Amino acid sequence: MRIPVAVLGATGAVGQRMVQMLACHPWFELVQVCASEASAGKPYGDAVHWLLSDPIPEKVASMQVTAPDVRSNAQIAFSALDSSVAREIERGWATSGVTVITNASSHRMDEKVPLIVPEVNPDHLDLVRGKEGMIIANPNCVVIGLALALKPLVDAFGVKCVNITTFQALSGAGYPGVPSLSICDNVIPYINGEEEKVEAEPLKIFSRLEGTRLVSPDLLISASCTRVPVLEGHMKSVSLSLHRKANFNEVKEAFCSFRSQLNLPSAPRQPLCFMHGQASPQPRLHCHLGQGMTVSVGTLRPCPVNDYKFFVLSHNTIRGAAGGSILLGELVVDKLFSKN
Ligand code: NAP
Repeated sequence: MRIPVAVLGATGAVGQRMVQMLACHPWFELVQVCASEASAGKPYGDAVHWLLSDPIPEKVASMQVTAPDVRSNAQIAFSALDSSVAREIERGWATSGVTVITNASSHRMDEKVPLIVPEVNPDHLDLVRGKEGMIIANPNCVVIGLALALKPLVDAFGVKCVNITTFQALSGAGYPGVPSLSICDNVIPYINGEEEKVEAEPLKIFSRLEGTRLVSPDLLISASCTRVPVLEGHMKSVSLSLHRKANFNEVKEAFCSFRSQLNLPSAPRQPLCFMHGQASPQPRLHCHLGQGMTVSVGTLRPCPVNDYKFFVLSHNTIRGAAGGSILLGELVVDKLFSKN
């Protein structure tokens, strides 16, 4: 029998991706779609401003949207709520015994909330093992791609410091997002609160779990975040120093040999794709690799200031949000739910 799940913030850019991906999920059955009071009571198909090229899944289009204080039999709530309202609503769902997997930033840095990229730090789930009604957070959309790209280097050589500049897609700002007159023919060198998240969240993800305590790594990150006129796919220019010196081929081999240990429905066989050609990856060409769940790394070269530099690309609403949190939900079911 499939596990009943709800989507909170189901009408937004991330929420509709979740609806699309949950519509025929082998483990999860979508039983409830929630949004604001303005959408509550309407059929989902009327409430949502659907942005995806696939049609709205038929059985979801006729489901009535509820306000977020209405409880169904959902055991898991995938949250794509606006961060300004997520904190209290998610806490309410968790208190009533539901496992909340959240995309919002509100709880990410809470000490008792694991912040997880399934291929990177699945062991952090131990922070909530045995608890009922927990909140587990999906990291920021830039951080997920960055953490996956850093993981093989952290494991093989240790990473000392990272300078990252992002080129972030418009869909990352939700709908309707950035006004067209601001972004056409332009690059905006500011995204509210983003640099702080990109600098802080990887430190939590790469922390060592000692008992019930997370011990931060010896890692420094400096981030500059920009919004660019691209629809989907967050590009990142990364330059870094390693703790242990490594030659070019060793770094390349670390990227190429990285494999997922996960055997879960949404886990791509290859979470990281090392691209050999020049001028890659590119958002339009590569952000849909692995159904949007594969992160691409390319244009690796030595850095005259740090040790190496390269580009990273990840799909922001799939790997960076909806797909990432559904994969996280699968990990939670696999590791924490009773197998009876
Ligand atoms: P969005 O398009 O603005 O959608 C926000 C959702 O929250 C809508 O469903 C909206 O419902 C609902 N909502 C707003 N106020 C509410 C209230 N008072 N009560 C209940 N529901 C309410 O935003 P988004 O881009 O999908 O982002 C959703 C969350 O994911 C945010 O926290 C964001 O930071 C995070 N995130 C986004 C991305 C991305 O690439 N877009 C990536 C990673 C994480 P109505 O339609 O009824 O207003």
